[in-house]
Amino acid sequence: MSNDPPAIYLDRIERHYLQGDDRLDILKGADLAAWPGQSVALIAPSGAGKSTLLHIAGLLEHQNAGEVFINAKATSGLSDAARTRLRRTEIGFVYQFHHLLPEFSALENVMLPQMVRGLNKRAAEQRSRELLGYLGLKDRVGHRPGELSGGEQQRVAIARAVANAPRVLLADEPTGNLDPRTSERVFAALAQLVRACGLAAIIATHNMDLAARMDRRVTLRDGRVVELE
Ligand code: ADP
Ligand code: MG
Repeated sequence: MSNDPPAIYLDRIERHYLQGDDRLDILKGADLAAWPGQSVALIAPSGAGKSTLLHIAGLLEHQNAGEVFINAKATSGLSDAARTRLRRTEIGFVYQFHHLLPEFSALENVMLPQMVRGLNKRAAEQRSRELLGYLGLKDRVGHRPGELSGGEQQRVAIARAVANAPRVLLADEPTGNLDPRTSERVFAALAQLVRACGLAAIIATHNMDLAARMDRRVTLRDGRVVELE
């Protein structure tokens, strides 16, 4: 596994925020790599910088220093258009709240990113049905988000995140809003996809039971990533 390049590699990431005259140093040289098929749990207290790290890893936010490599390719010199393209094809993102489009069905929510990328409707629909079926939602494809339970909504959000077959899956407390049993089901779906698709996954979570079942566990300590155990 380690002989291949990591699917994602964060190299000495620094990030600060300016608040009036104050400078908040959140990330101070954070390093983290994840390889295909590997799940990494990111466990740290609220305010430690988990979301900041994931947003930078997902090319949603710029770091102040350091480099994000996706499939061994440096990203900091890319144009906004190239970043967007790379994000669309190589990175899937799951948030704590599903952010599904309320006016569209589960099926359409999963089809849309594929059509944005240029896939024809028929192929997008076929892949969406397969993915939703795989996540146990075969009988829910026509439902709008408001007609789905919290766990079902999150599974649709996961299907959408991997719709374009990314190499990297980033999830920011994906079960943070769910009861324990539902969390378990959503996590199982995530773990199954990580293995089946050979994804490199970084998942921020407060759930120690779920974290224990991932391949690695890391935390953020004083702005750096520290391996646990
Ligand atoms: P976590 O996800 O671990 O709870 P975050 O990455 O959301 O932590 O935030 C880390 C710290 O950075 C917090 O103290 C937060 O207040 C601060 N922060 C995050 N985003 C901004 C911003 N846009 N402007 C100023 N401070 C921010
Ligand atoms: Mg957060």
